[in-house]
Amino acid sequence: MSIQAEAVPKPKVERLPALPPPDTIYRPIRKRIHLAFFLAFVAAPFTNLMRFDIPRQRFYFAGFELWISEFAIIFFALMLLMFVIAASAIIHGRVYCSYACPQMIFSEWSQDVERWARRSAQRWLKSASADLKKALELGLFYGVLAVASVFLAFVFTSYFIEPRDLLGRLVHLDFVTVGGITGATVTLITFLDFTLVRQKFCTTVCPYGYIQGMFQDKHTLLVSYVDGVGEAKDCIECKKCVRVCEMGIDIRDSPFQIECIHCGDCIDACEDILRKVGKPGLIHYTWGETPKAVALLEPWYLRWGFRDAKRVVILLILVFYLTGLGLALSLRRPVLVEINPDRSTMFKVLDDGRIANLIRLKLANRTGKTAQVRLWVEGLPGADLALPANPVVLKSGETFERTVELRAPYVENGQDVHHIRILAQSDAARRSDAEDMTFITPLKRK
Ligand code: SF4
Ligand code: SF4
Repeated sequence: MSIQAEAVPKPKVERLPALPPPDTIYRPIRKRIHLAFFLAFVAAPFTNLMRFDIPRQRFYFAGFELWISEFAIIFFALMLLMFVIAASAIIHGRVYCSYACPQMIFSEWSQDVERWARRSAQRWLKSASADLKKALELGLFYGVLAVASVFLAFVFTSYFIEPRDLLGRLVHLDFVTVGGITGATVTLITFLDFTLVRQKFCTTVCPYGYIQGMFQDKHTLLVSYVDGVGEAKDCIECKKCVRVCEMGIDIRDSPFQIECIHCGDCIDACEDILRKVGKPGLIHYTWGETPKAVALLEPWYLRWGFRDAKRVVILLILVFYLTGLGLALSLRRPVLVEINPDRSTMFKVLDDGRIANLIRLKLANRTGKTAQVRLWVEGLPGADLALPANPVVLKSGETFERTVELRAPYVENGQDVHHIRILAQSDAARRSDAEDMTFITPLKRK
């Protein structure tokens, strides 16, 4: 006696006139944002938008050249970047991963290249054997990825090594120095990443995806599937939302799956399918579990994500960070001037009878061009500094550091301590630097 399995009833698809496309299709928006972030990623090290120069110990941020001695500003800038990413995780969940992360951008791009290579091999070798088509497909795919890996590794390494210096090492196929070895290693890792690993990196290695899970709360942006039950169920079980998901999950199981990067591809897929049978899609971006229909009637600040006091505090902290960083950068001196007395010798009597005190002088040009610094003394008639040249000419990045004599004629006025001021004015700064100190002379005893 044979036992026949009970057939699973297929969902009944009620056909209504097709609906027009939805107002928002997320994939093309995401691709445009990918392009913008890719251009920013490529441009940042070459325009000094953001770059570390490890050999020279410099940090470039928003066009400013920060020295390692300016650690407070560097720390502030890095904290701001980290805070923006953390705040984005609290408010928008994993949208950084799907819209801005270089790993995701290049993983999706390498998948596009793979599909292009497959189509091209089929089109160009229509009547060739399957083996030949496969060989061409793999050749195209690995060839494009190899060139792209050299380019991407060059851009990435430029964040840490000066780009012209790095280009020279690349042109001369330098695999011996630290810079050359770093570039070659990053190229190999990039190639393996985008040919073998791709989005698996996000679900297995990247700690950021898991950390974001800790940041999220009941108002964080989610991708939610909302459907009726029983007869009222609109899902037609086409599974297109599952097929398009690069993270390999079924959003219908739960909106809280750690793998979900909130890319919105399943939203587009469901809209695309269901609108053909006259129904709107069942998957939406929602703030927490607030249904989309309810959210649409809410005031603008709720629809923008400011749904509780925590989010207002986040905004205030962001404003605080930006103001602090803006102030620190605007108060920063393009040419560093440090003037300190050297009291290892109180004074010297020179051969010509003048008195000299020793001054420790440090001038550092932190701009991208040559600067001139003029120094002079107030409060001590006839005083001058024994400099090789005044103004001192400093090339970009150059530091002048030495102990110099501050010389003045002997004045017989019964004082041995004279209050003076040394001033420095660079052509790169609007204000002059001033240092108050004392000039010590021998006291003439009666
Ligand atoms: S795409 Fe929409 S209709 Fe199709 S299985 Fe997914 S949720 Fe159901
Ligand atoms: S479930 Fe949807 S939003 Fe989440 S990763 Fe997959 S396709 Fe993207």
